[in-house]
Order: sequence, then structure tokens, then C-alpha cells
Amino acid sequence: MSEISYGEFGYDGNGQAEDVLRWALDTYHPRIAIACSFQHAVLIDMALKIRPDARVFSIDTGRLPEDTYECARDIERHFGIRIEWFFPRHEAVQEMMRKSGPLSFRESLTARRECCAIRKVEPLTRALSELDAWITGVRREQTATRADADKIEIDEAHGGIVKINPLSDWTYDRIRAYVKEHRLPYNTLFEKGYASIGCACCTRPVGPGEDTRAGRWWWEQPEHKECGLHVRNWQI
Ligand code: SF4
Repeated sequence: MSEISYGEFGYDGNGQAEDVLRWALDTYHPRIAIACSFQHAVLIDMALKIRPDARVFSIDTGRLPEDTYECARDIERHFGIRIEWFFPRHEAVQEMMRKSGPLSFRESLTARRECCAIRKVEPLTRALSELDAWITGVRREQTATRADADKIEIDEAHGGIVKINPLSDWTYDRIRAYVKEHRLPYNTLFEKGYASIGCACCTRPVGPGEDTRAGRWWWEQPEHKECGLHVRNWQI
């Protein structure tokens, strides 16, 4: 991921999240979309106030928690929008399940990355192939691998498109405060002790004082806790 000179994109880089979003939507719509993993709807709320036809997409890995589907439904109803869903290629899922079984991802880092590659990374790559820019909820405090996330980056892992992270400097508490103030839909797993939400079988609640990503792939080392969606040089 390369940092870029904001100036070359006609943006001074000093704005709040809404300013970054406005610039991005003005510059790239309709070839820009928000990637939503249904943790909260802060970015969707901000973007739709700027452009009511802003696009939102998501990846259904086939193993999402029920609460996440309920959050997706609530977001569609609240904003009156439809999510652009992308799914894994069924042939690849079928082959992996037949070859390695339904819980192969717990047996090794390689197997876990194979599952993420098939269920998340390939559909994301397909989704991004239609875009010039994408908007994410990546925040620096989430994990060691996101600590240097900039608000605007060149995403070399996805063909050099522009990656916008308007909330990169936001804290978890600030997200919660925005959701509460604007009465937005959110994933009810947060009320059950979850601090970061992914597939049902790879996510669990965290204890007091634990890192927000501690509940993701809890059997792995912290430096491995990425699914391939937001890493620079990730390989299976
Ligand atoms: S988070 Fe788990 S189930 Fe989901 S794609 Fe990755 S390894 Fe597979």
C-alpha cells in the first residue's frame, strides 16, 4: 500500500471523515463503493447524506453470524437501500469442503488463509475489479497490521485503485458515540461481548482489557490476524 500525495488528487488531506468522503464521492462516483462488514453504519450514514445514491457492497462468505444478517436487513430498511452482495465461487467452496472438511481453517495458518482466500479475498477482488476506488472502515487502533493506515492510499494489492479509510483515526468509543447520537443500526453481537465481527466460526467475544481483534482467529498469533482484505503483501 503506498501513501499518496493528497495534493495530486486535489484534496488537502486535513479534513474530517465527512470531508474525505465528500471528496472521494465527488471524484469517483459511480465507480466507488463502501465495503460494509455490518459492524456499524457510520460510513453509510455519512455517505448517503452526501450522495443518496452512494453504493454499498458486501461479501457473504456463507458463514456469517445471524446477527450480521439481521444488521444487514436493518441497514437496508433504515436507509432504504439495497446492498450489492458478492459471493464466493461455489465450485471453489465445494472443492475445499470435499478435500479438507468444514473446519479446515482451524488446522493450520495455510488452511485458514486458503478459506479466507476462497470465501473473502476472491469475491472482494471481483467486486473491486469494477471500481476505481473503495471506501473502508479500517481504523488504526484495530490491529498491528492497520496501525499505519492512512485516510487515502493506493491499493496495490487490487490493481492500484484508490482506497479511502475516512475513519482511520477514529477510536472504538467515537464509533459508539456516533451510532448512539444518530440512532443507527449496529451489529447486536457488540452487546454480547464481541469487539470485532467476522465469520461465526472464527469470531468470539473478548474479555475485559483484551485487544479488539483478540476474538478473531483467537488460536493464531496477533501478526497473522488478517483475512487478506486489508493487507499489503498477503499470500496463502
Ligand atoms: S474468517 Fe474463517 S470461515 Fe471466514 S473465510 Fe476466513 S477462515 Fe473461512
